[in-house]
Amino acid sequence: MAIKLVTTAAELRAEGARLLKEKGGSSLGFVPTMGALHSGHATLARTAVAANDVTAASIFVNPLQFGDAVDLDRYPRTLEADMDLLDAEGVDLVFAPSVEEVYPDGQPLVRVTSGPLGEKWEGASRPGHFDGALTVVAKLLHYALPIGGLPAGSAADGGAAAYRAYFGQKDAQQLALVRRMVADLNFPVEIVAVPTVRAEDGLALSSRNRFLSAEEREAALVLSRALRLLEQRADAHEPLDLPSAVELVRSQPLVELDYFDVVDPRTLEPLAENCQDTPFRGEGLAIIAAKVGPVRLIDNIPLNS
Ligand code: AMP
Repeated sequence: MAIKLVTTAAELRAEGARLLKEKGGSSLGFVPTMGALHSGHATLARTAVAANDVTAASIFVNPLQFGDAVDLDRYPRTLEADMDLLDAEGVDLVFAPSVEEVYPDGQPLVRVTSGPLGEKWEGASRPGHFDGALTVVAKLLHYALPIGGLPAGSAADGGAAAYRAYFGQKDAQQLALVRRMVADLNFPVEIVAVPTVRAEDGLALSSRNRFLSAEEREAALVLSRALRLLEQRADAHEPLDLPSAVELVRSQPLVELDYFDVVDPRTLEPLAENCQDTPFRGEGLAIIAAKVGPVRLIDNIPLNS
């Protein structure tokens, strides 16, 4: 196995610098994850490896973003299989720290606040989730920041390596918030969004899908079907008629719908055009969340017309 596992921030920094030097490279790609990796994560890793000289991934189940201790405890942990998957994609380095390494003083006193953008949609049913998620993303982006280790005479601008971090479109609100954090707080990193990877039947891949029974998994397909319906209407320059798509989801008894709306992809504010009789024009994002059996599922689809 060519991939290397490190567990401390100091090792990550040193190993990242060493690899950049060894490869004569000038760019580092970083893929933060919580492990239990699937083909969606593999696509993130592949995208990062293709665009950067050195690629690091992190695996850390962040207690700060779980409101529910049971959910945290049962989050799947599959480090060996995760390492194999990342190795197969050509990732150089995996950072899998302990909770103590990331939070040596227990809960951090100072945190990133996600603000109004973090309080709606997912934030409304998971209070504090995005503050916790952004706080750890901020820490991880700092840990992996490539400083030092560039070869003498490197082509990189001013001696600094290009730094790119990869996030899935699947978690659209997280992506929008990470983009805002990086812009608002001047993090020296480029955020790259990777389209959602789906199973053949349309279900968006998620580490939580393993908790669905066969019957629940079948029922869960209504989420991606309803999103596809809106996408087809947008592509055909038809009115979106969101209420009929909502009805489709509500007709599935195993699915308990939380929200389903069409929003601005950056602000996540609902777009007025959703329910109008006029054809959809412009750029939108259809977002949906529902509970299916024991699992809360989220999905979304970009709309362009
Ligand atoms: P997680 O381990 O669930 O926190 O996810 C780590 C990263 O993988 C996040 O940026 C997610 O948005 C991304 N991701 C998760 N599922 C998918 C998927 N089905 N397609 C693309 N990216 C995904």
